[in-house]
Amino acid sequence: MEKNKSLLKYNTFAIDVDAKYFASFTSFNDLKEIATTKEFINENLLVLGGGSNLLLTKNVDALVLKNDILGIQILKENKSTIDISVGAGENWHEFVMFCVKNNYGGLENLSLIPGNVGAAPMQNIGAYGSEIKDTFLYLEAFNIEKLQLESFTNKDCQFGYRESIFKKELKNKFIILKVVFRLNKTPHQLNTNYGDILKEIELLNIKNPTIKDVSNAVIKIRTRKLPDPKKIGNSGSFFKNPIISKNDFLKLETKYPKIAHYLISENEVKIAAGWLIEKAGWKGKTINNFGVHKNQALVLVNYGGANGSEIHELSNEIIADINLKFNIKLEKEVNII
Ligand SMILES: Cc1cc2nc3c(=O)[nH]c(=O)nc-3n(C[C@H](O)[C@H](O)[C@H](O)COP(=O)(O)OP(=O)(O)OC[C@H]3O[C@@H](n4cnc5c(N)ncnc54)[C@H](O)[C@@H]3O)c2cc1C
Repeated sequence: MEKNKSLLKYNTFAIDVDAKYFASFTSFNDLKEIATTKEFINENLLVLGGGSNLLLTKNVDALVLKNDILGIQILKENKSTIDISVGAGENWHEFVMFCVKNNYGGLENLSLIPGNVGAAPMQNIGAYGSEIKDTFLYLEAFNIEKLQLESFTNKDCQFGYRESIFKKELKNKFIILKVVFRLNKTPHQLNTNYGDILKEIELLNIKNPTIKDVSNAVIKIRTRKLPDPKKIGNSGSFFKNPIISKNDFLKLETKYPKIAHYLISENEVKIAAGWLIEKAGWKGKTINNFGVHKNQALVLVNYGGANGSEIHELSNEIIADINLKFNIKLEKEVNII
């Protein structure tokens, strides 16, 4: 157990704050041992994966628990599917690459999302028309109060758009230790309808794309569009894309015919938060050493040495301004600590 440890290298926003206590674990037994310490019993807890969906606004008055449980295990397979169990501390993208390499389909659209496997169910990570709920079978998690392991099926997790039960009723109550996915064997059902995937594949003149081609296309698009946290501190999309009623959308569309949107049901429309932020004039805005990314208005960035609480303030200003201009209340996707 370490004391007053800098979290600078543990968060992709590159915010330099300290954790009151810090411990990492590589197995369930390790964790059980930590659970007997006075710090685990008396302090608040913050579980950490890759730190790519956090904004640390102050020193963390808690025991920070870094989940480093590794391991990929095939549980069972038949002609068409394979069930794979993955340790929460495995890097998400490396796990996706393992699946692509072995021709297990279903996660290829989620290539290059930063972070670890254990955090993926927290917000039902998604990109390019896929979410982990599409392939998620169950997870095992440690109940912090009862000190026991519990299983959660897909239904139990109550997945929604960047949501799960672990961000709502069960917030801070469980530590996810492993996640089990059911993936597909050939023939794969590719999902190339979303965004620029098909365009990217056509550009490469590929006639019969494989899951590897889809993964490569996603990696190319993401590398082009998103700032690399190794170069500029950020946590990806800072805000969720708001969902509004079709009636409200039609009113907005009269005023803004070019509004970027996506019909999600007969009565609901998802609006591109990045479009709203750009239209409101925030794209590229820089305040001292932080601001809104110049190419991607949905991403707030730390150019080096920024203070998390100032970035948080900026996000609140953006929310208030979007509310004023479009009567839409943006929600934060990033966890504010
Ligand atoms: C450049 C960039 C692009 C991104 N693109 C996407 C995208 O396309 N789609 C998307 O959905 N997300 C995206 N993200 C956000 C982020 O990558 C995901 O949310 C990822 O799942 C976070 O994983 P992590 O291990 O870094 O989680 P952390 O940031 O460490 O933690 C996130 C939250 O989960 C909790 N947590 C972490 N691990 C556990 C555990 N084992 N048990 C219980 N709680 C836990 C933490 O306490 C925290 O509340 C992006 C981020 C960046 C920086």
